[in-house]
Amino acid sequence: MRAYKSKMVTPIRLPDREEREANLERAGYNVFNLDSEGVFVDLLTDSGTGTMSESQWAAMLSGDEAYAGSRSFDRLEEAVSDVMGFERIIPAHQGRGAENVLYGALVEDGDYVPNNTHFDTTRAHIANNGAKPVDCPCEGALDDDRPFAGDLDVEAVRRLADEVGAEKIPAVLLTITNNSLAGQPVSVENVRAAREVADELDAAFVIDACRFAENAYFVREREAEFEGESVSAVAREQLSYADALVMSGKKDGLVNVGGFVAIRDDEKFDDLYADARERGILYEGFTTYGGMAGRDLEAMAVGLREAVAESYVADRVGQVQRLGDLLADRGVPVERPTGGHAVYVNAAEFLPEIPDDEFPGQALVCELYREGAVRGVELGSFAFPDTDRPELVRLSLPRRTYGADHLDHVAETFEKVAERRDAGEISGLEIVAEPEMAELRHFSAELRPVRAQETTTAD
Ligand SMILES: *Cc1c(COP(=O)(O)O)cnc(C)c1O
Repeated sequence: MRAYKSKMVTPIRLPDREEREANLERAGYNVFNLDSEGVFVDLLTDSGTGTMSESQWAAMLSGDEAYAGSRSFDRLEEAVSDVMGFERIIPAHQGRGAENVLYGALVEDGDYVPNNTHFDTTRAHIANNGAKPVDCPCEGALDDDRPFAGDLDVEAVRRLADEVGAEKIPAVLLTITNNSLAGQPVSVENVRAAREVADELDAAFVIDACRFAENAYFVREREAEFEGESVSAVAREQLSYADALVMSGKKDGLVNVGGFVAIRDDEKFDDLYADARERGILYEGFTTYGGMAGRDLEAMAVGLREAVAESYVADRVGQVQRLGDLLADRGVPVERPTGGHAVYVNAAEFLPEIPDDEFPGQALVCELYREGAVRGVELGSFAFPDTDRPELVRLSLPRRTYGADHLDHVAETFEKVAERRDAGEISGLEIVAEPEMAELRHFSAELRPVRAQETTTAD
């Protein structure tokens, strides 16, 4: 149940079929090229797309825009200390800015960096510093309904160290929840095991805390030791083992932009902190604003506290579960159990008639827009060329933004797509223009249907 009500609203409109088809064609069958005004329910990402509270908006008015020594920075520091248990922070414009600041100070040419699964921007920043990002998810993670499918395989980290030498591993990373692995949670038991292996290797232990509040909720619900604890107590416990954090405020900071690095207040990390601060000044801005306006610092300070409130996080994770249930009830193949922020649909199973080389995931994304002006994102062969990832479509829920009726609309849209599928009306796609960098293909490539598309379903 939503423990909030609306006071300020953004009108949205469902364009008619003719308009949707024209929009899709104009966008080159790539939903990144759609104007958001033509989208009715936008599930492209939950990053920075959420709704701020009245307390956050009120706090913004007291933003201190001083270049140095901003009072707003102090308030963010206090919030990070209270909610996450870290005393030293370096602000950044968003998560990837924080990654650049920290990993540039931590990682050297020829290093190896293990992680339960590297998020795209993490992978890119590790590689950009000359190191090799190594994914160590637990084996068969999504096969058997595990409560903590996001866990790190610590034995895989030990094997990596045996192979390349512990001195080549400057840091062990843990991403909670595991975004690139269907947003699956990580147990505190696994956090402790990761801490242990980092100690064995004399490596820093870094948590990517972007979704720390959602992870804490899953731990409280699923890990026996934490039954009956508060989400905020679990949030602090799980982060208490880390030497440093990377945070994107656009996720569990409940803001539209912002982020930071946090480093443990311990002599052992004084040099790292000094290096990272210098990089912060170089790439983000002076140490008391780092790419954010004073008002943005204020909004994030409030957002971090709201993110661990029981009523908020139960509603947030519950909404994702509800969308997963609505789709599963209609026979849509979704990854179960659902994670913290999104529902993942297996498009190859949902559209078995579309050949592998005609982008079934992207075809489904386009159909969802065509039938209901719903925008999701493909995370399969179109976004990740030359990998053997499953053909997934991700539907991410912005925080505190949509209601139950919007979820129903998404489910009904899937029903309409299923009707078209059963009538043999859905075509695969082919690429007609793509950028040079294959890694950025899904942001800007243009496609077209392989076969002419009929439309017989009514609106
Ligand atoms: C979003 C995200 C990032 C990057 O944050 P941005 O604010 O988008 O730059 C890094 N790691 C994880 C796990 C994320 O979800």
